[in-house]
Amino acid sequence: MINMNQIILIKYGELTTKKGNRNFFVNTLYQNIKNKLKNYDVKISKDISRMYIEFQDKDLEEIKHIMDHIFGIHMYHIAHIVDTNTDKIKEILLEILKKEDFHTFKIETKRSDKTFEISSQEMNPILGSYILKNIDGISVDVHHPDVLVKVEIRPYHTYIYINGYKGCGGYPVGTQAKGMLMLSGGIDSPVAGYLAMKRGIKIDAVYFEAIPHTSLEARNKVMDLTKKLVKYTDKINLHIVNFTGIQEAIYKNSNPTYCITIMRRMMYRIMEKLAKRQKGLVIINGESIGQVASQTLTSMSVINQVTNMPVIRPVSCLDKLEIIKIARKIDTYDISILPYEDCCTVFVPKHPVINPNLEECLKIEQNLDYEKLIEKAIHEVNTIKIEDSKLDFQDLL
Ligand code: ATP
Ligand code: MG
Repeated sequence: MINMNQIILIKYGELTTKKGNRNFFVNTLYQNIKNKLKNYDVKISKDISRMYIEFQDKDLEEIKHIMDHIFGIHMYHIAHIVDTNTDKIKEILLEILKKEDFHTFKIETKRSDKTFEISSQEMNPILGSYILKNIDGISVDVHHPDVLVKVEIRPYHTYIYINGYKGCGGYPVGTQAKGMLMLSGGIDSPVAGYLAMKRGIKIDAVYFEAIPHTSLEARNKVMDLTKKLVKYTDKINLHIVNFTGIQEAIYKNSNPTYCITIMRRMMYRIMEKLAKRQKGLVIINGESIGQVASQTLTSMSVINQVTNMPVIRPVSCLDKLEIIKIARKIDTYDISILPYEDCCTVFVPKHPVINPNLEECLKIEQNLDYEKLIEKAIHEVNTIKIEDSKLDFQDLL
């Protein structure tokens, strides 16, 4: 039996700016919520501006946790359901407010049931004076109340709710096509993935590893980061690319200052091919302007020459502290700072070039039989499906 004393009321926020596409956005959000709550006894309904979830009392905390990870939810409230009857409304309202610690309040009534005999304007003072009479030491403040009470009078039922919970905003995942996230074990790329999903992009993740120069712990770290990201979507395919052959070839054949530039050009080439295979339309990464030598505008431009595919860099203009703040919020920071070496750090030269030259890159690449190496790496890609509901990892070893 579903609990009918309370209901979750979801407000869409930014979706409301989408005129023609509104149904598509709302339906995607509805499907995403339905999918996330498939193991709960709930009833979900929607109208043009809201979604409603009937739920079992015992599941409330878990469902709230899930709501906090669904993009497209601007705000949600736990509303109390009362019969549309003035005495009942007064009684429950008083019960709710007695549990709150406040000095000032304001009541906002909205009457969508026009057959109800009292208008919204009349209802506010009726309820307000009842509360003032029954709770000592409080007053009404219509501008900055400690507690804003909303009373929505609907046919049969009235919803009463106070302060809500902020959702994570953005657009529902799946309202955009797929993007391919370059996911290293660092701080920036999980944040980039989170921000991309927030715009509605569905992501696949790609991790380049160079075993034995990098460890299995480094790979596990990336899997753990993916598990954090998958909370915001339903599943993420994590593609693991064996980069050892390419990296060793670069290391042997390049001017050391160019190693990173060439390595990143190879990564982009592989990303483009994988994207085409997986129907991804863009590459997403955690590059941040000026952070390291390979992320100066000159470097980015020379590296970017190898692909026509759009490269989305959600954290490019954030500084490290801003990125860290998001990393903490999404709970990836503590994993990211674990000290396992990444393929970029293993081979990092003392003085990587800050302003690489395209001609020099092309000269170095002529001596690498990179097409074959790339084909081999793509052929050997290992894909792990990481699902939110069941973390089902294929044994890689
Ligand atoms: P992060 O930037 O995530 O903190 P990082 O600092 O190790 O990790 P950078 O050298 O700054 O990585 O590389 C910039 C971006 O390139 C990363 O944010 C990530 O998107 C991508 N990248 C780097 N190394 C890898 C890798 N081994 N596998 C997948 N993507 C990578
Ligand atoms: Mg970085």
